[in-house]
Amino acid sequence: MSGNSILEVTDLAVIYNHAIGALHGVSFSLERGKVLALLGANGAGKSTALKAVSNLLPAERGQVTAGRVLFDGLDVSRSSPSELVRAGLVQVLEGRHCFRSLTVEENLISGGLGRGSSRAEIAGDLEEVYAHFPRLKQKRGTLSGLTSGGEQQMTAIGRALMSRPRLLVLDEPSMGLAPLVVQDIFRTLRRLNRENGLSILVAEQNSATALAYTDQATVIENGIDVLSGDAADLRRRDDVKAFYLGQR
Ligand code: ATP
Repeated sequence: MSGNSILEVTDLAVIYNHAIGALHGVSFSLERGKVLALLGANGAGKSTALKAVSNLLPAERGQVTAGRVLFDGLDVSRSSPSELVRAGLVQVLEGRHCFRSLTVEENLISGGLGRGSSRAEIAGDLEEVYAHFPRLKQKRGTLSGLTSGGEQQMTAIGRALMSRPRLLVLDEPSMGLAPLVVQDIFRTLRRLNRENGLSILVAEQNSATALAYTDQATVIENGIDVLSGDAADLRRRDDVKAFYLGQR
């Protein structure tokens, strides 16, 4: 593997329920300090690949049958999701999971508890999250269940940031959100990457937006990676325009 990769996924195969093949050999790698998009249609296998990275498959009767995942050069196939969070690999799940009956600020604080942060550290981290998401500061005392979809997605991302990730993994952050909100979220992710050097892996069906804000992309089709490259190059390719950007 290249010494500069924070994440290296090689020939990953996954089945569900001991039978249904979801991934049939997927490879991609993310350079430290870069943003990589996993693109592909509904059901292509993007979420499965992300769950394999964070070891979240057993909860869904999914099993890695081949391949390997290296985080920072180490095989993490036996690390629990909470060990991975402590190691700096943090995933924001699809569907913006927030505790709906907690306030926005309580949700954020809950993200800092797992790593045993002190009160002062949590207070400092909160201010940093609010600097990136000023809207969350305005809504800090509101129950998350009463906030908008975009605010819930921001809360889910903010909560992940509270655990001080080195690699942030996001599953379909644009899902169900208005285009302007999606732009706002991607712009903030890009700023986090540029200002804090945060490495980001994001699965997206919204290829046009993802390619505008990422460095590299891998396209998955039917459980296989079919195309990988620099986002800027992919955006210019006619086949990508035709099949993934809707510009026939
Ligand atoms: P989406 O955008 O809908 O999340 P995706 O590209 O992330 O799509 P996956 O959710 O990874 O795709 O699904 C890949 C394949 O695995 C699909 O055929 C799906 O039906 C199957 N699959 C996903 N989760 C499970 C599960 N828990 N049990 C059985 N099959 C599953």
